[in-house]
Amino acid sequence: MMLKGIPAAPGIVIGKAFCLDSEEFIVTERHISESEVKREIARFKRALEQTRKEIIEIQGRIAKEMGRGHAEIFNAHLLVIEDTMLIEEVVDQIQKQRFPVENVFLKVIRKYISVFSKMDDEYLKERISDIDDVGKRVLRVLMGKKRRTLQNLKEPVVIISYDLSPSDTAMIQKGHVIGFATDIGGRTSHTAIMAKSLDIPAVVGLEDITKHVRNGDSVIIDGIKGLVYINPPEDVIKKYRVEKKRFEEFGKDLLKLKDLPSRTLDGHRVVIAANIELPEELPSCIAHGAEEIGLYRSEYFYMNRSDLPTEDEQYEAYKLVARQMAPHPVIIRTLDLGGDKFLSQLEIPHEMNPFLGWRAIRFCLARPDVFKIQLRAILRASVDGKLKIMYPLISGVEELQQANRLLNELKEELRRKRIPFDEKMEVGAMIETPSAAMTCDLLAKEVQFFSIGTNDLIQYSLAIDRANEKIAYLYAPTHPGVLRLIKRIIDIGHQAKIRVAMCGEMASEPRFALLLLGMGLDEFSMSAGSIPKVKHLIRSVRFSDAQEIAERVLTLATSREVEEYVLSKVKELAPDLIEATYS
Ligand code: PEP
Ligand code: MG
Repeated sequence: MMLKGIPAAPGIVIGKAFCLDSEEFIVTERHISESEVKREIARFKRALEQTRKEIIEIQGRIAKEMGRGHAEIFNAHLLVIEDTMLIEEVVDQIQKQRFPVENVFLKVIRKYISVFSKMDDEYLKERISDIDDVGKRVLRVLMGKKRRTLQNLKEPVVIISYDLSPSDTAMIQKGHVIGFATDIGGRTSHTAIMAKSLDIPAVVGLEDITKHVRNGDSVIIDGIKGLVYINPPEDVIKKYRVEKKRFEEFGKDLLKLKDLPSRTLDGHRVVIAANIELPEELPSCIAHGAEEIGLYRSEYFYMNRSDLPTEDEQYEAYKLVARQMAPHPVIIRTLDLGGDKFLSQLEIPHEMNPFLGWRAIRFCLARPDVFKIQLRAILRASVDGKLKIMYPLISGVEELQQANRLLNELKEELRRKRIPFDEKMEVGAMIETPSAAMTCDLLAKEVQFFSIGTNDLIQYSLAIDRANEKIAYLYAPTHPGVLRLIKRIIDIGHQAKIRVAMCGEMASEPRFALLLLGMGLDEFSMSAGSIPKVKHLIRSVRFSDAQEIAERVLTLATSREVEEYVLSKVKELAPDLIEATYS
């Protein structure tokens, strides 16, 4: 069987499936005797009590660390286990049907979920995830289970899952997870981005792969074309072994460019930098020839832990990255939570539109207590190398001024305390909302550089959720509307004499890189694995040709025409890239 999804991270793997979401609660169908009924009811009440304690404990921790508001979502969870109708129904069914409590409880929970999902009421629909969450928690207590996690995997596996949260992905141990495939997600969802960073071939947005794969099935992940084969026949496996070798050899060949400059045939120089989520990725960035770190997604430092990182912990991490890259710059992007990135323990309240919600700089400005700790840590580490700072999701001048005001207050405080920091540390803004793109002349007065975040800029300008596989076909970096915004940001940045970088995924695709080069982009930042092919492209073309290509593209009316045109140009200028990446 073969399924088609969205290619998220290139490469080919052949391996055994590990179904992460198959948190199957297999319950026995055995009847219990009359004398066991009382015992089962008592077990049920104890499990409810224990679950209640667990929830209250988590709630207390979150209230302490993130404030009461955040802890409130757990009230809904408490309401579920305190629901007398639900409790009475389970007790009643144990007595009448004479099945063990796990069996009865699972059926009752499933019935609730089914009834709620048919209702028109949005509020009740939203309660489904609370019921599901609490239901699983109670079942785990009853069955003495722990959730299957990606830690401590014993052999290399391909993960098959409905979804992987960015915090799940951050827990992946390289070598043990050799590929993954998920039901949902888009090309620029953070799960896909993380897969690229870890160099793990992945396909997302397969819709129902979890229904077709069982633990231990043999699977092929083709992260180049976005295909997954389940229990493939020998001839398909053979063909893929050859493809895999060819792809990997081409990758090795490109690595020879590692120490060569990113310069066009006619001498135009650009910078190719790396995006990282975790400091552990630095050796790979250096091995792939990254000249700088153009985006350090600092929020990953906050994930997979039950408390917030202290100033000293952050200082140590930033210092390490600064030192390892010195004298080359490292751009630390301040905390960008929300959207599809949540803290595993400290949850942001559930929102109807998380990508339009309380995220990134909005969260940080509303929580200066959290934000200041990070800013102070970055400032202190700035003497250990060349750090720069940039703010995510800026939507207008006020936010930028507010953030800079906080930064200046902290600088003042450090000066008073005679704590050294880099007085010349550059500050930049991510341009990833249409309003920022339209006001970039004003924003340019407040910062020393721009970094275009196309992952978000595209989703906001085309009104397409970047993580939704159903509309992924509309997510077009080559949409004329997007291209005009990008051109405007580059031109206005240059008029204001500031450098313009791009750290969205668009910069990592050779065919788009050709276009961006022609538009005048100064810096291309991407996951380490993408660097060699973009460098190869840059070194294979003339800047003057790229400029002509960009000019022509800006006259085209549809994204399809743009795609076809740039692809034909890459075919002409760097044919080997096409063979290896798009065949
Ligand atoms: C972007 O939006 O393009 C970006 C680089 O930031 P993130 O993907 O982390 O939202
Ligand atoms: Mg973004």
